[in-house]
Amino acid sequence: MLSTLVHAPTVCSPSGSSPNPLSKHIATRASMATASARSSARIAIVGDVHDQWNLEEDTKALELLQVVCFCSGDFGEENVELVQSVAELRFAKAVILGNHDAWHTKQFSGKKKDGIQLQLECLGEEHVAYRRLDFPVVKLSVVGGRPFSCGGQHLFRPKLLSARYGVQDMDGSAKRICKAALGAPEDHLVILLAHNGPTGLGSNLDDICGKDWVYGGGDHGDPDLAQALSLLKETGKICGPLVVFGHMHKQLADGNGLRKMIVVGADNTIYLNGAIVPRVKKLNDEFVNKEPHLSTPESCGTIRAFTIVEIVDGAVDKIVESWVSVVGDRITLEEEHMLFNSAH
Ligand SMILES: [Zn+2]
Repeated sequence: MLSTLVHAPTVCSPSGSSPNPLSKHIATRASMATASARSSARIAIVGDVHDQWNLEEDTKALELLQVVCFCSGDFGEENVELVQSVAELRFAKAVILGNHDAWHTKQFSGKKKDGIQLQLECLGEEHVAYRRLDFPVVKLSVVGGRPFSCGGQHLFRPKLLSARYGVQDMDGSAKRICKAALGAPEDHLVILLAHNGPTGLGSNLDDICGKDWVYGGGDHGDPDLAQALSLLKETGKICGPLVVFGHMHKQLADGNGLRKMIVVGADNTIYLNGAIVPRVKKLNDEFVNKEPHLSTPESCGTIRAFTIVEIVDGAVDKIVESWVSVVGDRITLEEEHMLFNSAH
């Protein structure tokens, strides 16, 4: 996602199709990494957007962060215009649509393009459902999970899944995810990008995929994603992947506090929930008073959330929740909250 890339070199290539352009700062980072004989990459996860998106401001923030961008869906209530704006972001990126992105359309229309078709069309190969997108310069492969997931034991929008992907049930979905991952280059870190996380990560209401809207909680993970991860583990070819998703908001229902947003499994798989909602806050008078240099007539800016994953030599090094203020052309990293540090 970004805007100022010009004649950028290749950074990502979907399996079996022509490569996408990539941002010049990614290329710069990659060449720096080559020079130092260490590969590195930074990923920004944009969790559930829920209409909180501004192409100009998010581009500025992402340029500061210098990243490959992953979006885990729920952009709006099938908000085609917003998804088209995300598609315009010229950073290297991978996207998976969520249940809210299929809010109105239950099956594909044969007569005219519906909201789902328009979203899929503008995202193209960057919508990674059941497929893999390779980023060879930074040695990453992204594998998409089931699109439109609403969590839990039942497929959401089964007619869409059947018509578009030929997926009829959870078992078939799991096998499709697994198959997409198995062709990844051996020296790539494999990242699974899904709208919702897998089952098996806890059933308390504040667990990473825990139900926070019913008394007593419950596990609201996706069973097909858990099965796919299990199948991949059996192959022995994909070790310690990173699993990125959203859907289950950080802020729990009924004022019950905050959700756990990261889990590190016994096999070192890292599960990361990026659904910080709302992800954008307007800067208020209190902030401007603390930062008098920002107090200009046009300075009613925003502060925007991203979850940043730093990868060094094929392993996750750090994960932070970052808040970036955007006031006109002043872009500032305001807060960082450490979620994971490989040194500890
Ligand atoms: Zn959702």
